[in-house]
Amino acid sequence: MVESSTVIGHQVTLNRLSVAISKGQNSHAYLITGPESVGKNSVARYLASALNCENVSEIPCGQCAQCNRISRSVHADCETISVDLDGYLHGDGNKRTVITIEQIRRIIRECYLKPYEGKYRVYIIQQCDRMSEEASNALLKTLEEPPEQVVLILLSSVPEKILPTLVSRAQVISLKKVNWLELEKGLIQKFNLDKKIAEELSKTCDGKPGIAVKMLEDEKYRKWRSDALDEAETLAESGPYQRFLYGGSFSKRYTKDREDSIAVLTLWQEWWRDVLISSYGINNSIINQSRIDKISYYANQYGSTNSAKNVRILTQAIAKLQKNFNPSLTIEQLMLGMPILAKK
Ligand SMILES: [Zn+2]
Repeated sequence: MVESSTVIGHQVTLNRLSVAISKGQNSHAYLITGPESVGKNSVARYLASALNCENVSEIPCGQCAQCNRISRSVHADCETISVDLDGYLHGDGNKRTVITIEQIRRIIRECYLKPYEGKYRVYIIQQCDRMSEEASNALLKTLEEPPEQVVLILLSSVPEKILPTLVSRAQVISLKKVNWLELEKGLIQKFNLDKKIAEELSKTCDGKPGIAVKMLEDEKYRKWRSDALDEAETLAESGPYQRFLYGGSFSKRYTKDREDSIAVLTLWQEWWRDVLISSYGINNSIINQSRIDKISYYANQYGSTNSAKNVRILTQAIAKLQKNFNPSLTIEQLMLGMPILAKK
């Protein structure tokens, strides 16, 4: 099965899906859950390939025309729907934040047509927790009596926000973080990396293959990540007044790009987790190995109690923002709640 090499990790899940599909036991709807960048999209594509693969025994083969076209994102029956796919809807520079009823209605209209080239029409709905209520209800109606040749694959890292009746209609595939060794092996296989580089990268991305791929392929992402970690260090060093000002500018940033801001906070949370681990002297479990000197320094300065408090406060703030609590208030509470070094 060549195709499985395009997914890093999750081998047990992939095998289970292949076996079920080769026996004709596929569902009409799947819900793939798991943390950001853990591989939900890759598994969805694997599933789409398995459903349409021309091979009889080992599916997906990764070599037939169907597998090939799905892996190159040019298959006429395999479509991805997401919040941002159509870019800026309102022309005011603000990103759209929901999957609209119009997007879902279009799928519903199309899904009653026969597939153009494959056996199944496959719709991958990313961040399906962002469907508007009307969109969720419309999709639910379709799932009550799904057309024969349609498979919907819903993806979400916050499945608790999905309409429960929608969840109950789908086969749930829950992806966990990939362990370091499996990730390292996958990176060597997929990118032909040197063992040492693969090892460091697999530690940095904390079990999330999507991050490793972005680190390798996307320079803008590398800069974004590095800037966000610089900010974590600056904040660790700053006093209450600087933090208060910083909170104001961060709130503005949040208004412009909610996703980006939550991703920054998640990175800070990981960085504080590193500081906490370092305060216990377990340096080989640190994610941000390239910043180990500063991490050890702040571990000494803050100690385990305050580092743990920072991890906790960030975790709470991220959860509140994901649940749409008042962002300015949440960010202000975060900035003022994080412990400050005694000298400040
Ligand atoms: Zn194939």
